[in-house]
Amino acid sequence: MRLLFEISKEGHGCDLLPAPDVPEVELPARERRRRPPALPQLSEVELSRHYTRLMKRTFGVNSGFYPLGSCTMKYNPRINEEMASLPGFTDIHPLQPEHTVQGCMEVFSDAEKALCEITGMDAITFQPAAGAHGEFAGVLLIKAWHASRGDTKRTKIIIPDAAHGTNPASATMAGFTVVNIPSNTEGCVDVEKLREAAGDDTAGLMLTNPNTLGLFDRNILEITKIVHDAGGLNYYDGANLNAIMGIVRPGDMGFDVVHLNIHKTFSTPHGGGGPGSGPTGCKAFLSGFLPVYRIVENEGRYGFSNPDSTIGSVKAFYGHFLVVVRALTYIKTLGAEGIRRAAIHAVLNANYMRKKLSEYYDPAYEGLCMHEFVLTLQKVKEKTGVTALDVVKTLLENGIHPPTMYFPLIVREALMIEPTETESKETIDEAIGVFRKIYDMIRTNPEQLHEMPLTTPVRRPDEVGAARHPRLTFPEEQPS
Ligand SMILES: *Cc1c(COP(=O)(O)O)cnc(C)c1O
Repeated sequence: MRLLFEISKEGHGCDLLPAPDVPEVELPARERRRRPPALPQLSEVELSRHYTRLMKRTFGVNSGFYPLGSCTMKYNPRINEEMASLPGFTDIHPLQPEHTVQGCMEVFSDAEKALCEITGMDAITFQPAAGAHGEFAGVLLIKAWHASRGDTKRTKIIIPDAAHGTNPASATMAGFTVVNIPSNTEGCVDVEKLREAAGDDTAGLMLTNPNTLGLFDRNILEITKIVHDAGGLNYYDGANLNAIMGIVRPGDMGFDVVHLNIHKTFSTPHGGGGPGSGPTGCKAFLSGFLPVYRIVENEGRYGFSNPDSTIGSVKAFYGHFLVVVRALTYIKTLGAEGIRRAAIHAVLNANYMRKKLSEYYDPAYEGLCMHEFVLTLQKVKEKTGVTALDVVKTLLENGIHPPTMYFPLIVREALMIEPTETESKETIDEAIGVFRKIYDMIRTNPEQLHEMPLTTPVRRPDEVGAARHPRLTFPEEQPS
């Protein structure tokens, strides 16, 4: 497909800028470009067709089944977008006086109340821009709390190996040493190993629950108690809350800090880099450390207040406000019962699909899963040479977005599948049919899977090359 710069024809430009409504001023010569910027010149219809072509080549939740484990690519109701485009929410400035943005502050306040109720926390900041960012803020809260007590020997954060990869990264960035503990044979935290690891140098535990295998840890209360008894705090990675929302709460499981990915669970479109929102919640005893711009209500009026011992700012102003508008819309349209039903359907859909697929493929772990499950294609690979990569390329050929693959790292040839709560039984059955068809292909003619996909716009890109040597500008575009 040709780029805008390649379609460009001298003189095809369209004037999209309005005439200036202020006097024109000549810039001094030294401030001016030596030659005009190398912008593509296209008519409006050429531009429109270009983006429509791109759109048709893009796979999204609105084009088909997208079972990308851990990422919760579910359908995001249109009403969220309608609310997020209301001028009262979009035509504002972060430095406007408080009395002119009371409605927006009410949105933050209501969203905080709702998410506190759902998580069992006492306070939430919306500043973090994504899940990993929320983890970072949350780990800083833990650090600030120990420091405030003069407890300087707590330099370690314990992280089970079935945690999301961002957990050790966030703990390290916050200046902690990560202590990794292995999972037991059921794929959950090895409680004895945790007991050995916990001590007076433990700042806390970071736990992803359900973990990246899609399993809810049965020993969760014992786990959080071990860490508390050792003087540490418990951090809950709540990025995938669609498995438990309205059913159980991290705050009731013994967790002190939690982050959510509202761009996953609370229904904001994501992928392609944002904008997201990773609010961090905490129990009351930590709320004095939260980032700045807390919103307080006083007799129906909203105002800002800065916590006494704040860790400072982790992002400019208040975070991604419109993502919070979408989340609040989602929560209010579903209501308490709807939130609960969404969780039940997320778990039901995943277990239905896991059970059906386990007739053809090996689950990485036995037993019920939560909102997602992991298959291992290790035996398939040994027997037939067909890899998880070959299978997902064949899924693409069949109009299904690949599941997350080669993750979690503790499973070989992993496929991590999350159908999500918004898919119907018919869609899931169709997908199961495709997986079954692929299974038959593996048995009868495994070689053909190495050739897949055949008809997609791009077949097998050089992924390592793309990551290591990205070409981000059109070669002929010259800086002036
Ligand atoms: C997605 C995810 C994260 C990271 O969230 P980002 O918004 O991508 O930074 C962290 N933990 C878990 C379990 C996740 O699924």
